[in-house]
Amino acid sequence: MYIYLPEVKQKKGEAFDYLFEEKLAESFDDFSEGGTLTLQVSVSSSADKVLINGSFNAAVQTVCSRCLENFDYHLKADFTEAFNVLKEVPAGSTPDSLAAETANMHTVVGDYLYLDEYIRQLIILAQEYSPLCKPDCKGICAGCGTDLNNSSCSCNMDDEAIDIRLLKLKELKQR
Ligand SMILES: [Zn+2]
Ligand SMILES: [Zn+2]
Repeated sequence: MYIYLPEVKQKKGEAFDYLFEEKLAESFDDFSEGGTLTLQVSVSSSADKVLINGSFNAAVQTVCSRCLENFDYHLKADFTEAFNVLKEVPAGSTPDSLAAETANMHTVVGDYLYLDEYIRQLIILAQEYSPLCKPDCKGICAGCGTDLNNSSCSCNMDDEAIDIRLLKLKELKQR
């Protein structure tokens, strides 16, 4: 994902809109197959800065922290950023190194604003530490590993034992 800047720089203060639709795994190593990203970004420039604001929507394949099943985790976030325009392209620059500096140093140099690393970091930040496939995921049984969303297991003996005791109590009362 990159934006060609000469026109943006020429018309200072004017906003240019871009829409990117990507497969996450093709753009970033750290996402598994199947993830998608929609990125909407508006770009403008001032005397010595390139300004962006926009939002992204991502579906990331991830693993539920309770039941360990794969699921599509939907993320969205807004962003606003100002990148300082550097005059000279550092020797030995590559699109990857420029993307890293844009993300980490908030700088942009040359004709392109490379957004890949910046967006990758936003997606990672937007992810929760312990994602859940659904808010009330029951997880897996610590005793036998059964996925409690799909079935119950015999480790629930405790509950049944209580029930039996209650039944006995009832019997006693009825005598
Ligand atoms: Zn789950
Ligand atoms: Zn169990």
